[in-house]
Amino acid sequence: MSISRRGFLSSAIAASVATGLTSPDLTAQDKAKENPANPFGAGKRPIIISANNGVNYLDDAFAFLKNGGDTLDAALRVVKGPEDDPNDDSVGLGGLPNEEGVVELDACCMHGPTRRAGSVGGVRNIKNVSLVSKAVMEHTGHVMLVGEGAERFAVAVGFPRENLLTERSRKIWLLWKENNSTDDWWGPGISDPRWKPPALPGSPQAELWNERIQSLEARAADLGIEPEFREAAIRRVLSPPSGTIHCSALNDKGEISGCTTTSGLAFKLPGRCGDSPIVGAGCYTDQDVGSAGATGSGEENIKVAGAHTIIENMRRGMSPLEAGIDALHRIVRNYNNDMSKLQFIDMTYYILRKDGAYAGVSLWQGYSEKPHKIAVHDGTRRSEATVFLFKGPSHEFPPFPVPVPEELKKDSVYVK
Ligand code: ASP
Repeated sequence: MSISRRGFLSSAIAASVATGLTSPDLTAQDKAKENPANPFGAGKRPIIISANNGVNYLDDAFAFLKNGGDTLDAALRVVKGPEDDPNDDSVGLGGLPNEEGVVELDACCMHGPTRRAGSVGGVRNIKNVSLVSKAVMEHTGHVMLVGEGAERFAVAVGFPRENLLTERSRKIWLLWKENNSTDDWWGPGISDPRWKPPALPGSPQAELWNERIQSLEARAADLGIEPEFREAAIRRVLSPPSGTIHCSALNDKGEISGCTTTSGLAFKLPGRCGDSPIVGAGCYTDQDVGSAGATGSGEENIKVAGAHTIIENMRRGMSPLEAGIDALHRIVRNYNNDMSKLQFIDMTYYILRKDGAYAGVSLWQGYSEKPHKIAVHDGTRRSEATVFLFKGPSHEFPPFPVPVPEELKKDSVYVK
């Protein structure tokens, strides 16, 4: 398959030129002031909310919750779906690996009724780290285990060791490794007939782009990446994605729990832990107030203790929406509203109050045809667009190396 260069470039790059980079859209805050109750709807119990990659797992978890199942077990049922799915490359099996090609997973959970927490960070070879975080909570006197110790604990309590690197994720990693190899010895060497001199500075920008994408396309074909997945693979190489799932569940008695699990940032430094395993950042539950979790730029979320901040905001009377928007503003504040930096950051919060009121908020809207969403089940399963601060998608990071030619900015179509 030949990737439509125009299609790929425009979709990959439209983010960079999206509107909204200059000024925040205040609609969200205004809305929150007008309707402090919550524009997402009045509270209803039982209810489960999650990141949108959990939407297909909500029916089963909701039935379990409605039949008296524990709130944490219900939330874990949702996040186990993407953990087990080799095609979700943001979580568990098939997660995109670290820069050395090794999958490292993070997770945490909080059980509201018993006010307990568990967490694991940087775990290799164990797929269901969300369940391992629950095992830490239940079978140790600790809250957090990391790295090799966490893996050995998981095996000791019965989790199987398995290879988490799927062939597809390995090939994407290799493509990424070779793409970044002008300064190292990966990729074809100078004596290889496929070797081409790098484009010289001063070449027209469109030529640089075309050359880069052409060579990625050819190498993706060599590696045997399926034609229909090649464009998505190249996208992941040029703009390493992040991805995660959070889920919070509330039963009709008002018991509430939450959990978050992730493979973290693709091609991260080995040992890097994001916000997902950090109790208070990637997830926080307080039986008196509610539960919140996050997906997005982990480093930024840790600095504002996002999920804990949101719970404390609600404790002091803010609605779920207001509480989430305030946490987003703290991220904006950390950069003094500097849009040249904020354009590279994204964050989505999933917020559930004890009365069943909920909200999904994000720093950026996402692509207009694929906005950030929160998945909800309160008897009806649905996905709802989040309330956002800035219009359009965030920029990819690391940024593309050359400015985008005008003619390639048109006709944006985002293809996952
Ligand atoms: N928050 C995750 C992390 O930083 C990634 C993500 O949610 O996209 O590891």
